[in-house]
Amino acid sequence: MAHINDNFLKLPGSYLFSEIARRTAAYTAAHPEVSLIRLGIGDVTRPLPAAVTAAMAKAVVEMGTAEGFHGYGPEQGYEFLRAAIARNDYQARGVDVAPGEIFVSDGAKSDCGNIVDLFAPDCVAAVCDPVYSVYVDSNVMAGRAGEYDPATGRWSRLLYMPCTEENGFAPALPEGEPDLIYLCFPSNPTGTVISRTKLQEWVDYANRTGAVILYDAAYEAFVTSPGAPRSIFELEGARTCAIEFRSFSKTAGFTGTRCAYTVVPRELERDGAQLNQLWNRRQCTKFNGVPYVVQRGAEAVYTPEGQAQVAENLRFYQENARVIRTGLAEAGLTVSGGVDSPYVWVKTPAGIPSWDFFDRLLQEAHVVTTPGAGFGPSGEGHIRLTAFGEAEATRKAVERICAVL
Ligand code: PLP
Repeated sequence: MAHINDNFLKLPGSYLFSEIARRTAAYTAAHPEVSLIRLGIGDVTRPLPAAVTAAMAKAVVEMGTAEGFHGYGPEQGYEFLRAAIARNDYQARGVDVAPGEIFVSDGAKSDCGNIVDLFAPDCVAAVCDPVYSVYVDSNVMAGRAGEYDPATGRWSRLLYMPCTEENGFAPALPEGEPDLIYLCFPSNPTGTVISRTKLQEWVDYANRTGAVILYDAAYEAFVTSPGAPRSIFELEGARTCAIEFRSFSKTAGFTGTRCAYTVVPRELERDGAQLNQLWNRRQCTKFNGVPYVVQRGAEAVYTPEGQAQVAENLRFYQENARVIRTGLAEAGLTVSGGVDSPYVWVKTPAGIPSWDFFDRLLQEAHVVTTPGAGFGPSGEGHIRLTAFGEAEATRKAVERICAVL
């Protein structure tokens, strides 16, 4: 008799997005004449840059020739892409990361979820609240989260670091001593960045205690504020305590194409083992690499044309974020994020619960948002809006919300 990993049974259903879909579908069924605008989506809408599709088309043709065919590639990614990433995303910005420390993958989601394989079952993880749910759920599946308390929305063995208006959405060092610290900046969902000084405190803390920081920089391309860190490896001492996750998804529109990478520095050791080697071993066993065609597409992101086209797409989303942020602020709402991020985090008026505000915006403004409570208890009293929509629809959605308020 095979027994299951019953940690899976502990996971509450993915309530947030299914509940949004349920309420939206119910409203649409009752009001088929209404055209809803969706500002809840976390997926990009702009097409892939032309430089990327041209490189992919060329690679497809290559694959159909005897000389250009590629079978299984290196699990860590082709050298051409690892070298392009190291050169452009790190070395050109004065950050010390070598190609051998870069592991190309099919997504930051997979890597953030799979990284738990490297750590002992009794490691204690600290997560931000509100949080990108993958960090929590992957710890639950690995049996590290303890028991869920529906009353508080928290797991007994995880340490929660509230990110609120009071602390500028940057977590304070938690009570208790975490072994794994998940940080995500620019943050999903609050849309805020962490200051260099604050991030340095985390790096120093991890080096002092032996914790490992799992730094999710999936939205780093949106950082525009001077001095805000784009990589944790910009900070002194990070190479001995941090792993960084990055993605082409939001940077270059690869959400459906799938390419990302994780940086594991060679100096990062625990219990005498190099984590770079452990991750390499893990990937070689359980992952067979990203398609050649996709990696050629990702490489083209770094060409001058690719860079210009990516910048144009980012400007498009940044303008949407500005429209949301300034429009709602002028209407008297308290907003954060949206400057270094495609996400705008909005405080509900008069502190009404986030699901109530979600319903009001759905029914009266005909705009679909994401209730903050779905990202964790400290997300209550907020909603998340995203800048990934069409420009005209975004402007109209903001007008509609302002009219309702
Ligand atoms: N990390 C964060 C914080 C995200 O919000 C997302 C996607 O929404 C991801 C990772 C997933 O990225 P990928 O598409 O590379 O799997």
